[in-house]
Amino acid sequence: GDALLCYCRAGFEPELAAELTERAALTGFAGYARTERGSGYVEFMSDDAAQLSRALPFPQLIFARQKLLRFADLRGLPAHDRITPLLAALEASGASKPFGALQVEHPESDETKPLAALARSFGNALRPALRKAGWLTPQDGDHRQRLHVVFLAGDRVLLAAANPHDSSEWSSGIPRLRTHPSAPSRSALKLEEALLTLLDHDERQALVRDNMQAADLGAAPGGWTWVLMRNGMKVTSVDNGPLQQALLDSGRVDHLRADGFSWQPKRRLDWMVCDMVEQPRRVAERMATWMREEWCRYAIFNLKLPMKKRWDETRLCLELFERQAGRPLTVRARQLYHDREEITVLALPAD
Ligand code: SAM
Repeated sequence: GDALLCYCRAGFEPELAAELTERAALTGFAGYARTERGSGYVEFMSDDAAQLSRALPFPQLIFARQKLLRFADLRGLPAHDRITPLLAALEASGASKPFGALQVEHPESDETKPLAALARSFGNALRPALRKAGWLTPQDGDHRQRLHVVFLAGDRVLLAAANPHDSSEWSSGIPRLRTHPSAPSRSALKLEEALLTLLDHDERQALVRDNMQAADLGAAPGGWTWVLMRNGMKVTSVDNGPLQQALLDSGRVDHLRADGFSWQPKRRLDWMVCDMVEQPRRVAERMATWMREEWCRYAIFNLKLPMKKRWDETRLCLELFERQAGRPLTVRARQLYHDREEITVLALPAD
């Protein structure tokens, strides 16, 4: 039967499986997760996977970097012609013609990394064949479902469909961001990715603006501060460690050597971001205080998850945060591609 197919960071399959299992049960769907540690993906088997997928919108999933509906599992594909059996499987699937775009990819794992070149060249050969057979629109568009051809091995491929409005637009769910030469640290990519994935285009226009006032807790060496500054903000950067000199020279950054758990702003800020390495519950509590006291309008913070039961800890921290914030918030959380053993959380006032 069909299954929900989600990608995740390799090693976080148990967290994604636990998340899907719990959320499916909460929305009244029976089913079970099937996964292999380190594979970078989880399948959730359910009698009505399509309806389950609609009940679990992609933006609400934390450990999934992509959400697809898998409708075929092709094994033993011959190396000299993978296209013929693939077209036959499409015809047999009952999927509706045509798809609006094609992604040929593989989940991110050590095992599947060598498949990148194959996926690329196969995609180039498959695209015209799909168009010829009426399976793909002449131009890419997002009005129709997107076809995903997922390589798990040289002779094994999953076929899956995605709703372009309820999935990641990036191949394998991974945004291709490059470290800017003047960025003080690679951590800058985390905040860039967070602004790109946790806010939609209109929200970014409205909430990330010139001359906004921001604080960065646990700022050194200054990657996140640099991202805020490049977005035109004035930043108070709190850390006992040193900040990159160029940030201080910009005139837009104040460096405070203080404890990020006790410092508070004198006036209300637009943004507070926090990347302090600390127990996640302690961070969640402090973030809740910021939201409750309205020391900032919007917040982005990371919760480090070095412990074993990472799904349990995630749920506990988010519940604690929302309860202690004591006012209605929009909260979105995601393990970003640039996050390692951590997740990133966005909080906005709900309105
Ligand atoms: N976001 C930063 C960047 O982009 O460059 C990297 C932050 S680094 C992962 C964590 C920082 O948190 C360290 O510089 C550490 O000094 C700081 N930190 C940890 N506990 C802190 C505390 N109680 N108060 C202030 N800073 C703290």
